[in-house]
Amino acid sequence: MALRQIRIQGDVILEKKCREITEITPRIKELIEDMFDTMYDANGVGLAGPQVGVLKRICVIDIGEGPIVMINPVITQMDGEQTGEEGCLSLPGKAGVVTRPNHVVMRAFNENMEEYELEGEGLLARAICHEVDHLDGHMYTEKVEGQIHDVTYEEED
Ligand code: ZN
Repeated sequence: MALRQIRIQGDVILEKKCREITEITPRIKELIEDMFDTMYDANGVGLAGPQVGVLKRICVIDIGEGPIVMINPVITQMDGEQTGEEGCLSLPGKAGVVTRPNHVVMRAFNENMEEYELEGEGLLARAICHEVDHLDGHMYTEKVEGQIHDVTYEEED
């Protein structure tokens, strides 16, 4: 188990656009493992490459229904709307209200570079949108409605 340092908002790496991954190398495999370790250790439900200082189009998600690896993800469909609290491991102890689509369809590659399609609703749709935003240098704070506030509890799952 190897934990990577999570970059905090204000770090310019979080504002950069990430590059596509073209092949799974041993370093990428190690990155995926480390990203899951780091995310679980921080009680997060998602983590994107730039949050651990890697400008590659890769995210991991686990909303409590099992680990998902997203390499070069593209959201192909979004509909509906949900408004709710959102937080980010790059802004610990804070949360804000963000409106997101309630349903998304995404295409990505897994850890074996096999392409797959995933449909997400509710929290999963929110997590997918949040993580894909990171790959283009965007934080949820750009979309917050009202104030960003302190949270006293860990993210629920
Ligand atoms: Zn985030």
